[in-house]
Formats: sequence, structure tokens, C-alpha cells
Amino acid sequence: MPFVLPGDPILATPFDPQVDALRIRADHPCGCGRGATWSTCCARTGQIRRPRAVQLPRRGSRIHYQNRGCYMRSEWSCAPKLSAEHAVSASVIRAATGATTMITITGHPWQKSETFEVPIDRLGSRILCKRHNERLSPLDAFVARTIEDTVVRIGTVVARGAEADGIVRLGFANGHDIERWMLKVLCGLICGEDKGTIANSPPPALWLRCILEEGPWPAGWGLYLETSNTKSVRSVYAMPLYAGARVCGLRMELLGLVFWLVLTDDLTDVFNAGMPREVSYQPIELRWWCNRSCASLLFGWRKPMSGSRHTVQVEPATT
Ligand SMILES: [Zn+2]
Ligand SMILES: [Zn+2]
Repeated sequence: MPFVLPGDPILATPFDPQVDALRIRADHPCGCGRGATWSTCCARTGQIRRPRAVQLPRRGSRIHYQNRGCYMRSEWSCAPKLSAEHAVSASVIRAATGATTMITITGHPWQKSETFEVPIDRLGSRILCKRHNERLSPLDAFVARTIEDTVVRIGTVVARGAEADGIVRLGFANGHDIERWMLKVLCGLICGEDKGTIANSPPPALWLRCILEEGPWPAGWGLYLETSNTKSVRSVYAMPLYAGARVCGLRMELLGLVFWLVLTDDLTDVFNAGMPREVSYQPIELRWWCNRSCASLLFGWRKPMSGSRHTVQVEPATT
């Protein structure tokens, strides 16, 4: 179903469980996954409890093999063969673009023209061995599922917008999982751009620990949401950010929103790389409104209530 997100998204009020509870059916199961209903769980406490982080398969038995073409080879448990998966997995591309076989892509370093139509299955960039691709794939599955759910919710709101039923359709996500996935995409992009990167300067060990949730993210690193205007919706676009020769983050367009992953202690680096000043750090909610119907995606963070809410007006469906 086509939909557009025009106009200026506005930064709205903080999470208000009193008001939100009225709009949500009391028997709606709370999306944090604790098993209780919305009204007796996160709405009652006023805090969005963080859904469990995506669990990755264990490292497996150490087989003392490093595949020279795999950026996770420091784990010493590579498979001999490389995976053909792209930096942005085919499942996420399908979910984000709605395409099944062919997509139009822009901004690849090897592209001569501005846009390019390619089969999704031909996007492979061979940056992880098969074992490490499998180890990280639950992150892609989680993001693909979250995008699909959100697109369906927005689609329902647009279709029913004229009926104005006012129901908030909620989705929950662990915000740190989005950050881990974006960092995985970034590793794939910088390694895919230049094969020498994996051999000579693979992603920093700190990044890999962050992806694997084996250590804390430095303060101030992570997800920032751009709160100004956005354009196309069913697209995915990702671009590494540089401070000189050093990678300091990732800019990503997804579902008409612009996300910035910051990987530097000095925000000046990412401002210089193009991040606007109007950003919201670790937002707690995204809302898509059409008349009085609303689709909502809530983010749980380690520090509850730290971010702000972001509202986007969606145009009603034209039939
Ligand atoms: Zn809950
Ligand atoms: Zn490997």
C-alpha cells in the first residue's frame, strides 16, 4: 500500500501514560513482552520497559580459523566460505522498500548514474563468513520484522484514517537493538567499499563488542533522530560519516525518517559530517497520525524516558 509522509514532523510532548491509556484498549497486550495488558504494565508505571535485547547465537566452539575476508575474524571461529549477504540484508531491503525482486538504489560508491535498478539477490558484498553472518542475522531479522509491523500499522492507519477510529496501534522495540543493527550495517558498508579494509583495518574491537552486547556503549554514542522534514518513505539509504579519515557514524534513511548513529565522543564530528542540530537522542516514540488514527512505535532504552516523542502527519489514502 502506498503512503506518503509529507510536511514537517514536529517534536511533541513527552510520554503521557494517563492520556495514552485512554486511547488504547485495556486488554491490549503490552508490547514489552512481560505478558501483562498495556493498562496494567507500562502504561501504569509510566515507563516503557525495554523488550529483551535480540539474543545472538553463542560464539560456538572455537575452531581456530580466521577467514581473511570476514570482518569478525578476530573471534577465531570463522567458516571457510564467505556469505553473499549485503551490508543491508535482503530481508530488511524487502521490508523497507516493499520490493520483492528488484530495487532502485542510489549512492553506492561504484555507481556511475544517480539511481540504478538491481535484483535484490545480486547485492552481495561478501564481508562476513557464513558462520558470522548467521551469528549476526537475528539483528537483521528483528529489524525486518519491526519495519514490516510498522509499515502494516501505518498502512492500516492511512486506510482507516477517514473513519477516524482514534486507536493507537502500538509496536515496541528495544532501541539498543536498532543501534546494534545500524552499527552492523556500518561495518558492512565500510568493509564492502574497499576489500583492503578487512585485511588492514577491520572495524574497531569496541564496535564489535557493542554489536555483540559484550560491553557498554560509550556515553553519547548511539541513535539520534532527525526532527526536520523528510522525503520518500519506502526507501533505505545508508552512508558512513567521516571525520577526516576516521569513521564517526552512519546516516540512514528508513521509512521516511533520518537516523544518525553517532560513534564519537565529540558531536562536532557528526555536525561537520552533516547532522543537523535539530535531533532527538534515543527517542522514546515515533507516531504516524492520519486524522484521528495513530500508529505508534515505542522504544525502550536502558535509561527510561530519556528521549522525546516524534510525530509525523500522514496523508489519507486516495482511492
Ligand atoms: Zn509493559
Ligand atoms: Zn568469520
